[in-house]
Amino acid sequence: MEPLNIRPDSLFVNIGERTNVSGSARFRKLIKQEKYEDALEVARQQVLNGAQMIDVNMDEGLLDSETVMVHFLNLIASDPEISVLPIVIDSSRWDVIESGLACLQGKGVVNSISLKDGEQTFIERASKIRQYGAAVIVMAFDEHGQADTLERKVAICSRAHKILTEQVGFASEDIIFDLNIFAVGTGLQEHRRYAMDYIDACREIKKRFPTCMVSGGVSNLSFAYRGNDRIREAMHSVFLYHAIEAGMDMGIVNAGQLADYDELDPELREVVEDIILCRDDSATARLTEMASRFQKGVAKEEKTDAWRIEDVEHRLQHAIIHGILDHIEADTDEARVKIGEPLKVIEGPLMAGMDIVGERFGSGKMFLPQVIKSARVMKKAVAILQPYMEAQKAQTRKADSKVLLATVKGDVHDIGKNIVGVVLGCNNCEVIDLGVMVPSEKIIQTALDRDVDIIGLSGLITPSLEEMVHVAGEMERTGLDLPLLIGGATTSRMHTAVKIDPAYDGTTIHVPDASKAVGVVQNLGNPDKHRELRRRVRELYDRLRDEFEQKSLRTSMVSLEDARSNRIPVDFAKSKPIAPRKLGISCFDNWNLAELEPYIDWTPFFKAWELPGRYPRILEYRHVGKQARELFDDARKTLHEIIDRGIVRGAAVVGLFPANAVGDDVEIYGPDDRSRVQTVFHFLRQQKEQKEGRFNSSLSDFVAPKSSAIHDYMGAFVVTAGIGADEYANKLAADGDDYRSILVKTLADRLAEAMAERVHQLVRKDLWGYVRDESLTPEQLLTESYVGIRPAPGYSACPDHFEKNALFDLLQAERRIGVALTESCVMMPVASVSGFYFANAESHYFGVGKIDRDQVIDYSRRTGRPVEDIEHWLAPHLAYSPEKATPVKSRAKS
Ligand code: SAH
Repeated sequence: MEPLNIRPDSLFVNIGERTNVSGSARFRKLIKQEKYEDALEVARQQVLNGAQMIDVNMDEGLLDSETVMVHFLNLIASDPEISVLPIVIDSSRWDVIESGLACLQGKGVVNSISLKDGEQTFIERASKIRQYGAAVIVMAFDEHGQADTLERKVAICSRAHKILTEQVGFASEDIIFDLNIFAVGTGLQEHRRYAMDYIDACREIKKRFPTCMVSGGVSNLSFAYRGNDRIREAMHSVFLYHAIEAGMDMGIVNAGQLADYDELDPELREVVEDIILCRDDSATARLTEMASRFQKGVAKEEKTDAWRIEDVEHRLQHAIIHGILDHIEADTDEARVKIGEPLKVIEGPLMAGMDIVGERFGSGKMFLPQVIKSARVMKKAVAILQPYMEAQKAQTRKADSKVLLATVKGDVHDIGKNIVGVVLGCNNCEVIDLGVMVPSEKIIQTALDRDVDIIGLSGLITPSLEEMVHVAGEMERTGLDLPLLIGGATTSRMHTAVKIDPAYDGTTIHVPDASKAVGVVQNLGNPDKHRELRRRVRELYDRLRDEFEQKSLRTSMVSLEDARSNRIPVDFAKSKPIAPRKLGISCFDNWNLAELEPYIDWTPFFKAWELPGRYPRILEYRHVGKQARELFDDARKTLHEIIDRGIVRGAAVVGLFPANAVGDDVEIYGPDDRSRVQTVFHFLRQQKEQKEGRFNSSLSDFVAPKSSAIHDYMGAFVVTAGIGADEYANKLAADGDDYRSILVKTLADRLAEAMAERVHQLVRKDLWGYVRDESLTPEQLLTESYVGIRPAPGYSACPDHFEKNALFDLLQAERRIGVALTESCVMMPVASVSGFYFANAESHYFGVGKIDRDQVIDYSRRTGRPVEDIEHWLAPHLAYSPEKATPVKSRAKS
């Protein structure tokens, strides 16, 4: 149900293995006893533990595998938590696989087919799989048996690849090779190279077929150590460490049972490494000897404060890696005295720590909050050393690259940009952060003056997308040739490919998050890798542009007139408008923020911190759970602090007015005078051709037309929980505490959304009072299961941010509660929310989608704004390309 994108820079993909009757005794028992609820729980557990696909295997002599497979897959399909993941149908019986394929929604994977029974069967099965749209795992197995040497593995896979791509028409990306992982450490001489052969084969296969993937069932490897989970975990972890490096993309593993390579007992790790890398023939004997020490039940020793007894260099490094501030002052001083030169302390232990942090974050072993905490320790230590460095140049080791970051003109959102800045700073980049609302001239001038290597632009709302196109055009015009990175919530690969990339000849890359930014910047720093990245990105963007064009060709639009005649037929006689209890404006200039905590939706908070998962379950996830809990604790502490100490304040203004629709506009009248039009809100209408029985919706459909003579009403609001937040966050950042600075900003955003929810509730139950007896739990509120909506201008149902001008004027929001608009209609303070209220029981959210030129011209007439202006503000929503927006460039991309 959710896309799983595996890209060249993706991390290792875990395929959950526990739903396998031959691999898990517990699962087998549950299936045999037909305890399907519990069996589903096993699958769910795999999801929680971070599996990204689920392998289902029902091969067992005493089971009717086919029936059980079908039954179980159907159960999974109706379980929303499990069915987010792709399913891997695992069977050695073709009939089981084929029946399973018929149950899969979305794209699945077949595990597996091989050349074991000859080419004919192989081709037949592959064709069937392709017909079902699934990917396929091909075992390195042929008519002569399973491949156990490097040569055989590579030869069989090459043969299979040729047949699949040339005869069956399989896409290379849909082929996954299972190169056979066999047990090592068995004591048998002929088994000693098994792991090495697999690893070498990975490397060779990825070289020959870079778009194919390599997988394997990992538990086989440690078969000889059944019963000793700690040794098995260590073997798997060491094996994966090397195999992933060699190109292994995915593996069938127990997602809940992977030890961290870096955290393994060093002695154990070395012996295991000797076995796996086939370095020492006596290793197996040594491991067997050690085995009893690592038996389950022998507790791992507690090592909380053990690091304090190490030498000062290691203590500093440890503090950086683990983000511990406690002893940093004393340790830094001690190191300065011991090492003598402050600069050497930075270049030595501190940098060594940061290098490890960067490396672990890059390989997915550390999460964003940890990195930001590490950066805080680093900054603190540097600040302590600074006074001693006056004489010398306070310049540390030369940065790998100099990156300029800016939030574009008209926009003030900077959480993502700040995060990227901190993370790049941890990876030996010099970051020049120009802050928010930065005009293109300043970006370009600074890039020239400071001789930067890379420019990164950030922005959150749609008008910022256009501003990015503008900056790209200016970079082209002034002849700049620096890589341009694009990031921010509404940016996308597609928009970058279709709109920004054509405006600028230099390398332009969309970077979706901080962890990606590091890799991209590092690649750009190396001429060969840069060239390769540029080539790949161009290929990708060319393809995306094609896709975009194809899609636009396929979408059929109807005329505005036809769209209007297919409006939502709301029956206002039936769902009769209710007059608000309190018409006019209500202002709350000091909202009690302390009451908002239960209204906070925490899931987007974790997303902002790049921790994947939904709250509250994320707190239990195996691989991010610990980080999520720590972050959540810190967040609540900071939340209480900023509220209790009055550091941030909240305010709201709500207006409820008589209103009627006139065409796609809604006229807002004086609170007690329907003849006085106070303002007009202009809405847009879906113009895509709709299926039978579906409407071309516009928000104006939810308000009774003036011609009906029915008295109707509409509302508007602005809330902010950001008064004082930016100032405090910026002060924290200036003091070197980026961690809490970003916490404050992300929390203020959450409070603003919570307040919008709370105020909406107040409107429904009291100010408007159209559902006075509503009683919903906070959870129900977050799923918006109430009557009425509060669409926000600039978002899908009313995509024109410009309409905020009328809304703010109507409510006098700047004068009343101090929320202002930038030229791109971004609200300041950032932690603010504004929107319209519709109370009609039939009102719902939708997306306007693309609009055509006739509607743009009509909208221009209605709003009195020039057509070019409208085309500028609604650029991403146009179904046509206005002259102006077609690439001005004549130089073809090479
Ligand atoms: N609980 C979430 C709420 C924000 S998202 C949070 O804390 O982040 C939901 C809000 O986005 C809605 O209340 C509405 O204001 C806006 N919204 C959602 N869908 C919309 C649409 N199609 N058009 C306009 N605004 C929309």
